[in-house]
This record gives sequence, structure tokens and C-alpha cells, in this order.
Amino acid sequence: MKHTKVRWLGHAAFYVVVGGARFLIDPWLSNPVYVSKPEEFSDVDYVVVTHDHGDHLGDAVDVMKAAPKARAIAVYEIAEYVGERVGRDRVVGANVGGPVKLERGLTVVLTPAYHSTVRGAPTGVVIMSGEESVYHAGDTGVFYDMKLVGELYEPRVALLPIGGHFTMGPREAALAVELLRPKYVVPMHYGTFPVLWGTPQEFVSEVRKRGLPVEVIVLRPGEEATL
Ligand code: ZN
Repeated sequence: MKHTKVRWLGHAAFYVVVGGARFLIDPWLSNPVYVSKPEEFSDVDYVVVTHDHGDHLGDAVDVMKAAPKARAIAVYEIAEYVGERVGRDRVVGANVGGPVKLERGLTVVLTPAYHSTVRGAPTGVVIMSGEESVYHAGDTGVFYDMKLVGELYEPRVALLPIGGHFTMGPREAALAVELLRPKYVVPMHYGTFPVLWGTPQEFVSEVRKRGLPVEVIVLRPGEEATL
């Protein structure tokens, strides 16, 4: 099995295709390392926002305007904020730990995140369809309940922040891998600003130290992998 498409758009932004459905996660498309335009994503089915910091909520409203069929998924209060701007019928407000059933056999779950936010609560997200399962951790420190995410949703692909300062650094992210046990891990949320000091090299070395049977996929901004 190899058909989850993951394209890194810089920082925490990803274009992910799961079960044939197109997701844009944390679409800060105007980030300093890779600039893309909302119009490039006019065919997305869902826009997921993990929390409302500017580098995650980003260009979500503009993408929703450019993608007429898209629906936004986020914690209830952020969904309301987006809904006020693009129409309430276009948002799915959910909450932490509640599996949301979507069409085509897709399930999306917002997961806890140790972070801050203005509206609602910070989250991660798991997107599942059949054997496909992708976890985007959002912005978070490491926490032991990631083990529950691993047990319940068995993510094949984990997208984890490694930059430090505001989120996990390489050492913490390696422990997250141990708790989650994914087949593939893609590092993110590094290299955007100087304060995000963590590097993929350090992350790979921390993962090796733990002897984890995971494949670390280091993407260049804009690069896509099928996992
Ligand atoms: Zn944040």
C-alpha cells in the first residue's frame, strides 16, 4: 500500500490526499520558505486549521474563497470565525477527540496539542480512510497521550514539528515517534525563522538513537511524496 500523497508547502502547511480526498492543512501559503497561491488549491475538498495563530490559520479564508467546493474543519470556535467569512454551511466545527464522519468513508479527528491559541483550543488532526491514516501534530510539545493517538488511529504517516522554541525540538519529536509508531515521519515547523533551530539532521540522529523502525522523509518545501 502506497498512496497517501503528502506535499510540504513550507512551515506547517501540507497538501495531503487521503482516500482520494484533497486536504490542505494549516495553509500559511505566504510563508517565507515557499510561497504558493490560494488559486493553486481551487480543487481542494477540505481545509483543516489546527489553531488560530497566524502561521497556521494563515490564508485559510482566501483558500476557502478560491476553492468553492471546499469545507473547513477546525475546533468549533475557529470554524465559526471562518464560517462568518465564507458561510456557515461551509465549515465543520468539531472538538478534541470527537471522530467526525465525512463522505467517502473519511474520518477526521482533532487531537490534543500542548500549545496556546486565541479561539477554542489548539489541536492536531488525524485523517483516515481505509488503511490510510495521517497525523498532523499541529504546534505542540511532546505529551504522553500521543501514545493514545498511536493506539487508536495507528497513523502510517506522522507530520511532526521539530523546530523547537514554540514546539517540540528534535529530541522531543523523536520521543513522539516512539509513542506514535508511524511507518513514515515527515519533519516540519523548522527553518522558517532563525528561532526554529531544530534541523532534520538532528531529528534523524535522535530517531536513530532510539532505534525506531520508522522512515524519516525529509521533504524540500514544495516537494511531494507518495507514502
Ligand atoms: Zn502556534
